[in-house]
Order: sequence, then C-alpha cells, then structure tokens
Amino acid sequence: MREFGYQCADDVTGAVTLLAADPDARYLGGGTNLVDLMKAGVERPGLLVDVRELPLGRIEPTADGGLRIGATVTNSDLAVHPEVRRHYPALTQALLAGASGQLRNMATVGGNLLQRTRCGYFTDLSQPCNKRNPGSGCPAVAGEHHNHAVLGASDHCVAVHPSDMGVALTAFDAVVSYESADGPGEIPITDFYLPVGDSPHRETALPPGALITHVTLPAAPVARSRYRKVRERASYAFAIGSVAAALTVEDGRVREARLALGAVASRPWRARAAEAVLTGAPADGATFAAAADAELAAARPLPHNGYKVTLMRNLVVSVLTELAGEDAR
Ligand SMILES: Cc1cc2nc3c(=O)[nH]c(=O)nc-3n(C[C@H](O)[C@H](O)[C@H](O)COP(=O)(O)OP(=O)(O)OC[C@H]3O[C@@H](n4cnc5c(N)ncnc54)[C@H](O)[C@@H]3O)c2cc1C
Ligand code: SF4
Repeated sequence: MREFGYQCADDVTGAVTLLAADPDARYLGGGTNLVDLMKAGVERPGLLVDVRELPLGRIEPTADGGLRIGATVTNSDLAVHPEVRRHYPALTQALLAGASGQLRNMATVGGNLLQRTRCGYFTDLSQPCNKRNPGSGCPAVAGEHHNHAVLGASDHCVAVHPSDMGVALTAFDAVVSYESADGPGEIPITDFYLPVGDSPHRETALPPGALITHVTLPAAPVARSRYRKVRERASYAFAIGSVAAALTVEDGRVREARLALGAVASRPWRARAAEAVLTGAPADGATFAAAADAELAAARPLPHNGYKVTLMRNLVVSVLTELAGEDAR
C-alpha cells in the first residue's frame, strides 16, 4: 500500500481547500469501501481527509416537510430515525438490507453514494478494466458477468452500482448537495450518476474535489413504500436485483407511483416507463406486469445474466401487488 497522509477536517471550507490543493487527496468517510480499495491497490491516495468531524451529522426537517440528511450521518442512524421510518419506510428497509450492523455503524451517507462497483475485474489489478484503467478493455462482457447490468450499459462497461440506499433515494427524488472550490451546488439524484457511454471511469456529475454535504428528501409521497432485495444468500450480500416502490391507490386505480430498480445498471435505475404505465391505470396484476414489461423492454442482457430480466419482472409485480393490497386495507 502506498504511504499516505491523514488529516481530520473540522470545517467544510478547509476540507474542500485541502482536496483542491492536492489531486491525490481523497475524502474519508467510514472507510468501509475506500480502505478496502487502498489495500487492493485500486485507490492510491497521497492524503486522506477525514470528514467525520465536520458538522454534517444531523438529520433535520425542511420547511416543505422533507428531510435534510447530513453527509456524515451513518447508515445505522439514518435507518432508525423516526421520521425516516414513518415517512420513507423503503429507505429504512434499503439501509437495513445493506452490509452488516458493524459496517452500517461506520458507513456514511456520502460514502455510500460514492462506493465503487463490486465487479471482480475492477479490483483485480492483473486484469484490464476500463473503469480502473480507461481504454484497457472490459473483460466482463465476454467473461464473468452473471451479476452485471441489463439496463443502460455499454460495451465499455457493464458493471452495476451496488448501493441499496441509493435505490430508495432515487425513488424518493432525493437531491445531493455539495461544496466545491467553485462554491456550493446541488444535483437531483437521477442526474447524479453519469451514463456509462465510453467513459465508465467518470461516474458522477460531482465537480472534481467536491464534498457531498447533504442529501435532501422532498416531502414524502402520500404513498406507502417498500424496498425488496434479492441476493444470493440471506444476509450480508449485495443485491442481484432490488426494487424500491411507492404507490398510492384510489378507487382501485393508481394515483401515484414511484419505482426504482437496483443492481441492474451502473446507477440506481428510475423506472419512468413503468411509472407512466402505472399512473391512472387499474391497480391490478395485469397493470403491474405491463409496467414491468415496459421498463424491461430496454433490457440488453448478456449471455449469463438474462435471468435478471425475469427476476426483476417478478420482483416489480410482487412488490407492487403487496403495496396495492396494503393500500386497499
Ligand atoms: C463486506 C461488505 C458488504 C457490503 N454490503 C453492502 C450491501 O449489501 N449494500 C450496500 O449498499 N452496500 C454494501 N456495502 C458497501 C457499504 O455500504 C459502503 O462501503 C459504505 O456505504 C461506504 O461508506 P463509507 O462512509 O465507509 O465510505 P468510504 O469508504 O469512506 O468512502 C467511499 C468513497 O466516497 C468518498 N466520500 C466519502 N464521503 C464523502 C463526502 N462526504 N463527499 C465526497 N466524497 C466522499 C470517498 O473519498 C470514497 O471515494 C458493503 C461493504 C462491505 C465491505
Ligand atoms: S464491467 Fe466495468 S468495472 Fe467491470 S471490468 Fe468491465 S469496465 Fe471494469
């Protein structure tokens, strides 16, 4: 591992200034992803700027009924916050479905959004990988890709984003706020992750050296919400497919629907085509299947991950059916 410096930042401007002055510096949240990548030699920062003492550890109500979540709030604290549990249950469920209790106690909101893919080639320095080493190739396309993307990928990279939390935040239209050397800014989470295209090493729309300061949730939809994750073992595993959904049903018809899919694309995938089919339609199995099919029509599976298309169709139908049943009670 490369030798590195360590500095604990105590104000946001100071942290951003340190990163602006040193392109080899990285922010350190809980370190649960960055430190692993440093051990593997994928990340080789010269300086770690620890952000956990910054005044970004609060969850506060906003004037319009939403929540403002500091970037250093841990995944554990966010999951059990009473307002999150009451108004954004899919977010609590997504957080608790991720990693382990110990990891969630360390992992921060900012770090979770910026965690890197779990594609095995990405962390294997003996292999080419366009994301780690631009232009070197993508061995996953013809190699091991059973848990790779079926939506929105390109020949340059077929990796998926691993965050559970990000899928729920996407369904709830969260907005990511940051501070950079050029001042503050904000990005809707649906625009936060860049399309893969031919530059998979460019993952987010954050300016270089920007510090995530908050994530804001707009007022919760009236709808009930749910997160369901499918994984290869019952605990402590990344998703092979997941769904965050919120649904309001009135007089047997869908008044409002929010749907995001996880582990199918390089980003949490907002299912707009499915939402368009759902809105105003009868809240029944035929509509839910049509909605899933509308979204998955764009799927381009590889030889060994076609199962994900069926899995996601079943998952979407099952979660929506469950939510509609609860709404009718
Ligand atoms: C064994 C294991 C199992 C896991 N299982 C799951 C799972 O099932 N589901 C899931 O979603 N996740 C899972 N994870 C991933 C885990 O959720 C992430 O590692 C964690 O959320 C990252 O947060 P962190 O604060 O530790 O980030 P760090 O490792 O500290 O940082 C990650 C990245 O974010 C950057 N960063 C951190 N904070 C900021 C900030 N405020 N502004 C700008 N950049 C910042 C860092 O520079 C780094 O590039 C698992 C991890 C492990 C090790
Ligand atoms: S899928 Fe992406 S991360 Fe994996 S080897 Fe290909 S370029 Fe690298």
